[in-house]
Amino acid sequence: MAMEKCPKCGSTDIDNGRMIGIDSIFYKSSKHLFILKENCLSYACLTCGYIESYISEEYLNKIKQK
Ligand SMILES: [Zn+2]
Repeated sequence: MAMEKCPKCGSTDIDNGRMIGIDSIFYKSSKHLFILKENCLSYACLTCGYIESYISEEYLNKIKQK
């Protein structure tokens, strides 16, 4: 998936990159623990600052199987 238009303000001025942490960024819910590295792509709206991230389909499928 990719963000081409900001869902918050409608701007198409979108930058893309990756969230960067010291080692990894974690997402934890009551069901899953995601360790986010190169398997997560993020998009930032250069108009309002909204950031949206997508986990790769391959990693998502791997997590769902656990
Ligand atoms: Zn925006």
